[in-house]
Amino acid sequence: MHELSIAEELVRVIREELRAHPNARLKAALVRVGALRLIEPMTLECCFEAATCDGPLAGARLCNEQVEALARCCKCHLEFSVEHSWFECPRCGETGSELLHGNELQLVSLEIEKEKADAMPSNEIELVAEGVYGSQT
Ligand SMILES: [Zn+2]
Repeated sequence: MHELSIAEELVRVIREELRAHPNARLKAALVRVGALRLIEPMTLECCFEAATCDGPLAGARLCNEQVEALARCCKCHLEFSVEHSWFECPRCGETGSELLHGNELQLVSLEIEKEKADAMPSNEIELVAEGVYGSQT
């Protein structure tokens, strides 16, 4: 399951980003995922939850933004959507197309909440209060 290693990598990048905001609490992270990455959004969200549940990012939500795969024919310059990694141009049949979108895996934005460190309740109380985990755990 490669979603788990991706989630762990995201956690590493996010924690690096958050170093600049020591008292901030992560509410949500937005990632842009290209269709050719073959990532199941729900699986990635679950893996992210598992990777953050007992750390400083506990309770943070991961949001996926899926990007369609788009290629451009190098011969007739037609732009067409790519399905199942099939790169043949639908107009002229040329196979040497250039991928424009679909291979993305980017951290787009972080939604953080600034709090004073001494005013922060324990994680447990916070999670119950906000119902972040719901009944899934
Ligand atoms: Zn073409």
